[in-house]
Amino acid sequence: MADWLDDRILAFDPEVQRRLTRTIRQQFAAEDEALQAVHQRALAEGLPPISVRPEEGHMLHFLASLIGVRRILEIGTLAGYSGIWLARSLPAGGTLITLEQDPRHAAIAREHFALAGVADRVTVLEGAAQDTLARLDGGEPFDLLFIDADKESYPRYTEWGMRNVRPGGLILAHNAFRNGKLADADPDAATLAMRATLDMMATHPRLLATIIPVGDGLAAAQVR
Ligand code: SAH
Ligand code: MG
Repeated sequence: MADWLDDRILAFDPEVQRRLTRTIRQQFAAEDEALQAVHQRALAEGLPPISVRPEEGHMLHFLASLIGVRRILEIGTLAGYSGIWLARSLPAGGTLITLEQDPRHAAIAREHFALAGVADRVTVLEGAAQDTLARLDGGEPFDLLFIDADKESYPRYTEWGMRNVRPGGLILAHNAFRNGKLADADPDAATLAMRATLDMMATHPRLLATIIPVGDGLAAAQVR
């Protein structure tokens, strides 16, 4: 049966893919000195190399800017790299709240937000997201929720977002492809949770969603 599996795209070998990614990075997603410094320092501090890539950070910035964000919530701060891309889409007086359970990550991220000149609009809330989200539940709604922490909790984070993101706002979730594991025949618990999240986004009548195939996949849902 004919389908849309596209040989021309499947023919992108890794080297071609690398060159295309480099083009996007240079043309649209160039890091300034602050972002470069934060990336280098996160690695030097021994943090895991799992920050969003520049083109993913830029996609976050692009989407946030399109919808005119004033209030953003991020789950999973790490070194603050994605947070800087997000914070840079905020107008004066806007806020990014970012949740992080590891005190060392939180401390490094605070330094990085200062280094990037966005500390005035960013609050790092320490603790397990399960607890900090319970405190934020039912408060002032957010324009954008970016989920990038423990994969098993993505379905609950997404449900939280449906209660706390304003109509027209966005729920974004990183690692939709799980480095390819999304399509595994023998899925682990995190992959099953990602599939459940994507199912919810794809089928819920209040969500309009897709996966933006940048980097490791950015699941994106607009709350109607
Ligand atoms: N968004 C970051 C990367 C986040 S990595 C960036 O792209 O720059 C995931 C982070 O989530 C780690 O720092 C980890 O400590 C944190 N984390 C994992 N589970 C968590 C939880 N349940 N609550 C809060 N933070 C959590
Ligand atoms: Mg991630």
